[in-house]
Amino acid sequence: MAIGTRFKRTGTTGRERAAKAVDPFYRSKDWYRFRYHVLKRDNWTCQVCGVRIGKKGGHVDHILSRHDRPDLAFDLRNARTCCASCHSRKTVLQDGGMGNVRTAGPGATPACTVQGEPSDPGHPWNR
Ligand SMILES: [Zn+2]
Repeated sequence: MAIGTRFKRTGTTGRERAAKAVDPFYRSKDWYRFRYHVLKRDNWTCQVCGVRIGKKGGHVDHILSRHDRPDLAFDLRNARTCCASCHSRKTVLQDGGMGNVRTAGPGATPACTVQGEPSDPGHPWNR
């Protein structure tokens, strides 16, 4: 593939592109500093499942989402260390995944449960 074709604009709208971009909040110096505080306080241990996290792999989770409580974005009591799997599980349940918009409106149920079973009661697996 020739250089330059990979990031060719494909006619998506600005809003679609913005939804996929990394939130600038998570690139701010304040966030990096805050995140480090939380990881250190929790001793690099997942507060959900207790797994010990490497110094690079830890996620810091907002207990009350930043969307609902932007005023608590830098509140240490509203933050906890999570391993990647606990955090992605929570993120998927909350908003359809990292930076992804829910596909079926607010409050949409994810297509599968935490256990990986389809959440639709009419799904053949649930009959
Ligand atoms: Zn965990």
